[in-house]
Amino acid sequence: MQAEPPGRTLRLRLDRSALSHNWQALDRLSGAANAGAAVKADAYGLGVNAVVPLLRDTGAHTFFVAHWSEVADVLRYTPPETISVLHGPLTGNDCAYARATGVRPVINSVYQARLWRETGGGLCDLMVDTGINRLGIGMSELGDHEVSGLEIDILMSHLASADEDSQLNGKQLARFTQACSSIPARRRSLASSAGIALGKEYAFDVTRPGLSLYGGIPRPELKREIRQVAQIEAALIQCRNISPGDSVGYNAKFTATEAMRVGVVSLGYADGFLRSWNTGGILRKDGALLPLLGRISMDMAVVDLAAVPHLREGDWVEVPYYLPDAAQTTGLSQYELLTILGHRFQRL
Ligand SMILES: *Cc1c(COP(=O)(O)O)cnc(C)c1O
Repeated sequence: MQAEPPGRTLRLRLDRSALSHNWQALDRLSGAANAGAAVKADAYGLGVNAVVPLLRDTGAHTFFVAHWSEVADVLRYTPPETISVLHGPLTGNDCAYARATGVRPVINSVYQARLWRETGGGLCDLMVDTGINRLGIGMSELGDHEVSGLEIDILMSHLASADEDSQLNGKQLARFTQACSSIPARRRSLASSAGIALGKEYAFDVTRPGLSLYGGIPRPELKREIRQVAQIEAALIQCRNISPGDSVGYNAKFTATEAMRVGVVSLGYADGFLRSWNTGGILRKDGALLPLLGRISMDMAVVDLAAVPHLREGDWVEVPYYLPDAAQTTGLSQYELLTILGHRFQRL
């Protein structure tokens, strides 16, 4: 006998209208520049399959991935000339793959510039390091003949502290402006989500938001512009009554002082619900609060059902995933909260 595929006990709902809204808001805040989209790490964990076609239909036509292994998925939804690979080529094979598919490598070093040119050259992007000291050619290498021989679409740099009011922002803007005057390129790009909020002088021709597309708020200016995109629900897989003196979970970190009704939720650290939620984490059901009890384990967490004693196995509870608040509760960054969401969610 054939059985239906088993139902899942975790749901990750993508609010499509919020995602479109966020891209449009970031595009508007980018002024004359066009907003692209960072879709690396499977669109920050939300799923390239849902995110890329929606952003494409909303108006995005510049997409950024980090790894070569991420290209194939994105290519199913958008033409190669709209895709940039931020890590750039490490080998001749990477260059061959770029040419075979038509996606653009981001050249990050004199080594990569030479590799790209020796294997045939062609249109590429160029990352200039203006102060983050991560990827990118240095300001002193702008005149290198390997670099000046490149045919550049997007000349870009990346801000280190755009989510703070740091003097480094202005310094990086000045250095990038200097780089733009010495390196010819079709388009220029400096700002990611937080950089967009710094003002239109940071926007240039293309912006590269990631986090804020998906509901992250790295600067207060974005608070009223950005809507929550990811909503998480988990099923109760058991409800039980415990007595005074009974403890809950590994290492007995919670002990009941009175009779309680508790629920076991199908959500654990293997799903990205890390133990950092333990201090102060509260799940919800229709506005009622369900405090976490004891340690979160790999596949389960236990909640107090006092506020909703009628709940039973198979009912769904909500995980509060408004990113600024969740970051406050857990001490994790908004980026981490998105990208750690695991593979057991049904992505809706
Ligand atoms: C990840 C990344 C982005 C997107 O940044 P957000 O802060 O998520 O908006 C933009 N540019 C580069 C180079 C990146 O690595």
